[in-house]
Amino acid sequence: MSKLSIKDLPLHDHRIFMRVDFNVPLDEHGRVTDDTRIRETLPTIEYALRHGARLILASHLGRPKGKVNPKYSLRPVAERLRILLDQTIARGENVGFATDCVGVQAEEMAGKLEKGQTLLLENLRFHAEEEGNDENFSKALAKLADFYVNDAFGTAHRAHASTVGITKFVEKSAAGLLMEKELEYLGKAMSNPARPFVAILGGAKVSDKIEVIQNLMKKVDALLIGGGMAYTFLKAQGQEIGKSLLEADKLDLAKQLLAEAQQRKVKFLLPIDHVVASQVAADAVTRKIGVGEVIPADQMALDIGLKTVELFSEEIDRAKTIVWNGPMGVFEMPPFAAGTNAIARAVADNADAITIVGGGDSVAAVKKAGVQDRITHISTGGGASLEFLEGKVLPGVEALSDKK
Ligand code: AMP
Repeated sequence: MSKLSIKDLPLHDHRIFMRVDFNVPLDEHGRVTDDTRIRETLPTIEYALRHGARLILASHLGRPKGKVNPKYSLRPVAERLRILLDQTIARGENVGFATDCVGVQAEEMAGKLEKGQTLLLENLRFHAEEEGNDENFSKALAKLADFYVNDAFGTAHRAHASTVGITKFVEKSAAGLLMEKELEYLGKAMSNPARPFVAILGGAKVSDKIEVIQNLMKKVDALLIGGGMAYTFLKAQGQEIGKSLLEADKLDLAKQLLAEAQQRKVKFLLPIDHVVASQVAADAVTRKIGVGEVIPADQMALDIGLKTVELFSEEIDRAKTIVWNGPMGVFEMPPFAAGTNAIARAVADNADAITIVGGGDSVAAVKKAGVQDRITHISTGGGASLEFLEGKVLPGVEALSDKK
């Protein structure tokens, strides 16, 4: 990697400002209902504490829109962090909490930190200046520490004060271990993938994934498209799609993309059979539409069929690199979940390939299928991983110091 890593920083006795992604779900009593995001960054926190850092952690939570809102307080996260740190070499009792991320109290608490102690700051987004990437606010954050570490891949595609602005006012800025892992796997897939390289894309809309398709087309050997977005392509090929999702204003673009794939000799595979219903409902009456059969005018395709799973699996089985983003159907509802589940298992079954899954829905599908342990890398950033696949430079990554 061309950017500094936390391993390159002199952590001992220094104050480290670490941007983490503690944007966890809370229930109505303010309790953390899923601490995956906290756990994912624990190795970086532990690494810093083990090396004698005085650690300041900062995150956003929810969308408080620049105003203090107790509903989005990070205080419950501090409590959970204490419990989690107790299970490591660090001591949970050493986690303090500052009720504002900038200002006198935060400065005093950060100043008094001893080696191996941690201070969690209150929600960055209680200040509108955070998302505005405001210079004075960035300076106020930077004032708390000597060095900066970013371990929040999920917000690296946003140029905010805590992801970009702050880096101008600290001596060095480095990637945390989680950030490094994300960049390593996604970076290798995009720059030097083991081949065949197969990308699986799904989800509702073509319009959300146009740039991903355009960029991946230049890199992959095969593109497998499922989910609602497939039907605009099938329509562009002249097929009847009934009431299936259609973005009529994207039909010309779909034709262009299909032509480009042909010209580049990239396999562009679309569903050949379907599970349909007359409405999107968990108790809908479903029908199977076989290969060569026409989707009736009053029906919508809501999952890929068995033959499509077989077709896609052939490519998945022989791939050496697989990137997957987006479900193959309305997988939240049991009648339309089988296709996505089968693809999750097929990806996991290929033990010879580097497999990368990104995007909230596909990650959820992999977990639901119980195969997450057999996926090489599950990306923690939905939007950020998509922008990476689009070939964009993430501002939060670009802002880190270059390795000399
Ligand atoms: P996205 O946010 O674009 O990744 O899309 C995810 C959503 O697409 C999920 O909520 C799925 O239910 C939905 N989806 C997947 N396949 C279909 C389909 N064939 N028709 C309608 N919605 C779909």
